[in-house]
Amino acid sequence: MLIVMHHSATNEQICAVEQAVEAMGLKSSPIPGSLRTAIGVLGNQGYVDDSSIRELPGVRECIHVSKPYKLVSRDFHPESTVVEIGSVKVGDGHPPVIMAGPCSIESEAQMLTAARVVKAAGAHILRGGAFKPRTGPHSFQGLGIEGLKYLRLAGDESGLPVVTEVMRIEQLDDVCRYADILQIGARNMQNFDLLKEVGKLRHPVLLKRGMSATIEEFLAAAEYIVAEGNSQVILCERGIRTFEKATRNTLDLSVVPLIRKMSHLPIIVDPSHATGVRALVPVMGKAALVAGAHGLMIEVHPEPEKALCDGAQSLTGEGFGELMKEIGGLLTYLGY
Ligand code: PEP
Ligand code: MN
Repeated sequence: MLIVMHHSATNEQICAVEQAVEAMGLKSSPIPGSLRTAIGVLGNQGYVDDSSIRELPGVRECIHVSKPYKLVSRDFHPESTVVEIGSVKVGDGHPPVIMAGPCSIESEAQMLTAARVVKAAGAHILRGGAFKPRTGPHSFQGLGIEGLKYLRLAGDESGLPVVTEVMRIEQLDDVCRYADILQIGARNMQNFDLLKEVGKLRHPVLLKRGMSATIEEFLAAAEYIVAEGNSQVILCERGIRTFEKATRNTLDLSVVPLIRKMSHLPIIVDPSHATGVRALVPVMGKAALVAGAHGLMIEVHPEPEKALCDGAQSLTGEGFGELMKEIGGLLTYLGY
């Protein structure tokens, strides 16, 4: 429930409402704003009887929120969240952040080369998978901790923060030791135990949309993380499963402006997994920026034809360099 106070409500009246909420065994969370003061009510399992609250001095109205997410919604938190990874800032008011690198970390040399290439082209964050959620058990599963070490080395050498996927709670200690951002992949978007654990940490989280997740389910998954205390969450649209087979997934670009309205969390787009087709990645990446994405995640491989994973959708270093130049022009046009 959301309790909206009158514009003229005094601090004492606001405190009295908070006390009344706590007396009902619920949690109150004040939401100050320039246009109104509201108090979010959390911790209820079902409908909250608002009769004792509605009558309190200073209360304008009680709005019942039946959505499975509250903390990540603009209703409860009107101001946009900016996720900070060192000096890199992802969110409203900052130029889009480009994350790039190979799908999988394959060797020290591959990772160092990839890092140099994406850094030279202007990427802000280096990506690379060490724990890979592959569809089949016979495919390359990733180098694990050895891979994390190469990723860290490449990040340190190029001066780029690094992002990598974590699939299980047991991997969290190692991934936190080597990575700056924890990626929760599409296949784990509803691994609620994992979401709760990353919620207890202070590492920024990149949460990818599940391949069949509705926007409500996507935001409810983010709510699990934020509800545990970690508000540093970046959402990532990476395409959804539809009947169409010509592309790997169907890029749902409309979620970008929609989520920007519904949630205060930043949202980026991954055109690589969304299309699965190298030739489509640059144009859909640029389209995502026009739609208002706070960043992109792009797979880049020094030799895509030799990639152990997702070569068909990976840009070459040269291709990525060209895209970054085009993005530079686009950002000027967009006013950055
Ligand atoms: C990835 O980014 O490497 C990945 C596996 O993506 P997704 O979870 O979106 O399929
Ligand atoms: Mn991939």
